[in-house]
Amino acid sequence: MGTGFSITQDFSDLDPRLLDRCARCGTCRSVCPVMAEQGWESSGARGRILVIKGLMKSGRPDEAAQESLFTCTTCGRCKEICPAGVNPPLLIERARSGLVLAGFVSKEQASIRDRVFATGNTFGEASSRLAFLRDRSLIKEKADCVFFVGCLMSYRYPETAARTADLLRRFGVSLLPDEKCCGSPLLRMGFDAGESMNSNLRQIEMMGANTVVTSCAGCYTTLKNNYSADFQVLNVSEFLADRISELELYPLSKTVTYHDPCHLGRCNGIFDPPRKIIEAICELQEMKASRDLARCCGGGGGVRAGYKDLSLSLAEKRLEDVPEGVNCIVTSCPLCIRNLSDAAKGKMEVIDVVDLVAESLDRAKARTNGRSTARKVA
Ligand code: SF4
Ligand code: SF4
Repeated sequence: MGTGFSITQDFSDLDPRLLDRCARCGTCRSVCPVMAEQGWESSGARGRILVIKGLMKSGRPDEAAQESLFTCTTCGRCKEICPAGVNPPLLIERARSGLVLAGFVSKEQASIRDRVFATGNTFGEASSRLAFLRDRSLIKEKADCVFFVGCLMSYRYPETAARTADLLRRFGVSLLPDEKCCGSPLLRMGFDAGESMNSNLRQIEMMGANTVVTSCAGCYTTLKNNYSADFQVLNVSEFLADRISELELYPLSKTVTYHDPCHLGRCNGIFDPPRKIIEAICELQEMKASRDLARCCGGGGGVRAGYKDLSLSLAEKRLEDVPEGVNCIVTSCPLCIRNLSDAAKGKMEVIDVVDLVAESLDRAKARTNGRSTARKVA
């Protein structure tokens, strides 16, 4: 680690005035999930800002400084509560870029970067990310709306990806022929993601798409806030909630709770669409902290990749918010599903909102088939 470059030079993207806005009031200390877990000043927003200031003055980061900056999940709780209008996750991301430019990259971070550069996905998978597709004819040359699947959904939740594609095809939604990683993991860790972002952008433009639908909170926030392009980005729950009357959902007798992914809820204000879908199907009981107050699952900001134990501890904490008596947790992000499922160790199922929709539609189909069989028998 470390190449001898000056950190100060490599922090040129960071306006010191943004750091100076921090009045050191400490309000953010009460909401940071990482600080609650670790208890150190350097693991909260105020401490991290002090670490960045120190680095801008003195140069070389030690291990503690790197840990301080790379253990932020970018959950945005501190930004929400800060009375001075500071945006700590943004400052932390910029500081991470400075560290990366200066060559301070951990083995885990470097390996994710190398995998994305080599294969276009975070897992280094050589197989097609569209292997889950039951029907290739879904990929059209031109389409007004495309489904951006994401690395995690494509390779680790292919069943949910296939269900989403099946649902979206009813509304004429296509897919990109050669989708690459959206860039979120790289950007959140401070790397440049221009190559895969440009490849996606070219394909979106070539298809003439005006709307991109995503099923991952990380893809959503990246496509919406980092692509600076002229298309609308929707989470799949938004897209389906607007078409709920066309779905012919069947009610299920179960009670679920909903986990708000940080990069969908607090960071982008998408709270109601997934709830509208859930409430059309079954009973929803809110978590102890929900909507803009929702606790982070612990997976974001590269924390799961770089600090797995911390990430799982944060997920365990989030599970404490699950109300008694629910059948499962529903969410709208595969990274949240993965981290919460790992922490739950089989004691609580965590599913995507699309899985719930698919279950409801399957039940409706079974009921219709049952009726027609019953008529035939009669
Ligand atoms: S709440 Fe805002 S102003 Fe107060 S310490 Fe945290 S970042 Fe600084
Ligand atoms: S973004 Fe979240 S994890 Fe990062 S400093 Fe703020 S509250 Fe803590």
